[in-house]
Amino acid sequence: MTAQILVVDDVPANVKLLEAKLANEYYDVITAKDGFEALKQVKEHKPDLILLDIMMPGMDGFEVCTKLKQDPEVSHIPVVMVTALSEKADRLKGLEVGADDFLTKPINDMALFARVKSLIRIKQLLDEVRLRDKTSHEMGIASEIDTAFISNVNGAKVLLVDDDVVQGKQIIAALNENFKAEWVQESDKAVAKASEGDYDVVLISTLLSDADGLRLASQLKSQEEIRNTPLLVLVDEDDTRVMYKALEMGINDYLIVPVDKNEMMARVRSQVRRKRYQEALKSTYQKSISMAITDALTGLYNRHYLNTHLGNMVKQSLKNGKHLALMMLDMDHFKSVNDTYGHDVGDLILQQLSNIIIQESRSAELASRFGGEEFVILMPETNPQSALAAAQRMREIVEATPFKINNNGDAINKTVSIGVASLHPDGDSAESLLKRADEALYEAKNNGRNQVRVGAAMAAKGW
Ligand code: GH3
Ligand code: MG
Ligand code: MG
Repeated sequence: MTAQILVVDDVPANVKLLEAKLANEYYDVITAKDGFEALKQVKEHKPDLILLDIMMPGMDGFEVCTKLKQDPEVSHIPVVMVTALSEKADRLKGLEVGADDFLTKPINDMALFARVKSLIRIKQLLDEVRLRDKTSHEMGIASEIDTAFISNVNGAKVLLVDDDVVQGKQIIAALNENFKAEWVQESDKAVAKASEGDYDVVLISTLLSDADGLRLASQLKSQEEIRNTPLLVLVDEDDTRVMYKALEMGINDYLIVPVDKNEMMARVRSQVRRKRYQEALKSTYQKSISMAITDALTGLYNRHYLNTHLGNMVKQSLKNGKHLALMMLDMDHFKSVNDTYGHDVGDLILQQLSNIIIQESRSAELASRFGGEEFVILMPETNPQSALAAAQRMREIVEATPFKINNNGDAINKTVSIGVASLHPDGDSAESLLKRADEALYEAKNNGRNQVRVGAAMAAKGW
């Protein structure tokens, strides 16, 4: 299933038109005919994006947007204001009340789809981070996010890359009213400067005389230090090709030159906010990781964390119609290691098994120590066949890996049994998923160990 978009407009013909265009691109569209209905729809469906008309009777788009942006439950959902052509004051007011972008009527298809695509991509990234943060909160180990730091962005550091002296002077003067702006005129110095400066936003002109601004932007994006720094490009009014390409490349936003001062300030402000929000989520997440959620012996997530996160993942995956699978893995005859070589060697073996698990899991997967010599690996967006294949690969790798039992090079061979279970799209629960994996594991053990078995309920469906 793809992203869900809410279209809000009091004129039924406008709603119909947008709905048709978006549905044609396979978006799931819901609609509202006024502000009140819009707020209700957002609360109920938590869409991935909102296209919001400004002029509506009762409650206008500004009021709706203000309310949405004040509600922490939904404030991260991007809002695109839809205005009539040339209502510049409206566009600015929209950005000031927290709108993420605007489109002008009549809506240009290219602008619509480019905007929708890029905003949804950011939203879905944030969703992933929010979900992990929520898990940490539910476990009572995360600190609150500092909202003041996010809403007050005065003094943020901005870098401008532009070789147009007149335009550059004006932009720098304007930026310096609220931010700390720096300016680099030589494009060959831009990458080094941007990587060193710890900037909150970088503005790059695409009208440089001696360099391709988009190429420069893409070079910046590939630098580790500034990968998450928002980039804004300055684009010539008529150059829709560059605008489209910039958004396709994942540039966060663009400004049309000659730059409108207020619009620039509003867009820079909203990019800084977004960056800080992302950073705040990440840092509370990292803090929480170092606390009680990991297993001391193996460094994997512990069972408590797995249980909490699995519950959230199941709900999310069912809502979005996404696959979710897990494998439960247990070392065969592990007790005999303890009995033969002692408990310390047993620990060493468990650490080596954990290393294999970490190495073999994709970064989206979540590996946890579920019990003594039992591990659960959560595989988001993985279909049943791929989950089975991953488990079989894991089993083979363990079998082929010698496990060190001392520093003299002595090693033993060990094997694992694995149970695999996949989420039922028509309804499922974390408990049931774990139970089916556990039953499958039990079967693998009973059948002679060193093998993979698939959850019974799934097998009935032909897997
Ligand atoms: P099976 O093939 O049926 O899984 O047999 P097994 O011997 O692996 O399983 P069993 O459940 O009988 O024994 C597991 C053993 O793992 C018992 C327990 O003492 C040991 N164990 C659990 N946690 C740790 C640990 O942290 N370190 C060590 N060294 N041993 C552990
Ligand atoms: Mg075992
Ligand atoms: Mg066991």
